[in-house]
Amino acid sequence: MRKPVILYSSIWATLLMLGFFIVSSLSGSNISFRGGTNRSPGIQHLQGKVVVLDPGHGGGDPGTVGVGPTTEAENVLAITWELRTMLERSGAQVIMTRQSDANPSVGTQFDGQRNGQLAARVATSNRSRGQIYISLHNDWHDNTTVKGTSVHYYKSQDLALAETLQRHLVGQTKAVDLGVKRSNFYVLRNTSVPAALVEIGFLSNSEEASLLAKPAYRREVALGLLAGINAYFAGEF
Ligand SMILES: [Zn+2]
Repeated sequence: MRKPVILYSSIWATLLMLGFFIVSSLSGSNISFRGGTNRSPGIQHLQGKVVVLDPGHGGGDPGTVGVGPTTEAENVLAITWELRTMLERSGAQVIMTRQSDANPSVGTQFDGQRNGQLAARVATSNRSRGQIYISLHNDWHDNTTVKGTSVHYYKSQDLALAETLQRHLVGQTKAVDLGVKRSNFYVLRNTSVPAALVEIGFLSNSEEASLLAKPAYRREVALGLLAGINAYFAGEF
């Protein structure tokens, strides 16, 4: 009897060590996703959901070029990819209006048209099975001390999404809360599903411009948006 006991205990010890190694390497690379399920704690309402993510600008339109080392187009694309990975790990499907530094209207019927880029983004959303639409941007102000984050909505059906995103985004990043605003933006006016446009920080402010260039801060932004999307689908407005 003695030998098998030793054998079993050493197997268990090996398995435990292996498990510990896997858990610690996962948490080392990504603080928020521990264990074998790859899911963030509390993110339980995204299975099967379809989310349209729209990184603003791109493809010759850098968006705001502020006082930091990166452009608005670069920042929001990086945040969108981060968020996409998190959403997919949580069981959601993601549709992006652009996946690289490209103009989304190129190769579509909207190429060369006035508002063509925006029309292409809207069409991507409206032709998809997407349940919500989120456009990601950085802000600009002539007063370089102005900083913070706001979320914009247009239709009454957008308000709950905008408020939920703003609450979780500001909660995660600790950015100045500039609130939720009703804005007559093309993409908000023309998308058919609940839609929000997120203005993440000011590239005219040196502190936020340098933060937004950092992968760690972009990850915090993505985590805030992930929590907001999860809360929206959970009905926690
Ligand atoms: Zn923008």
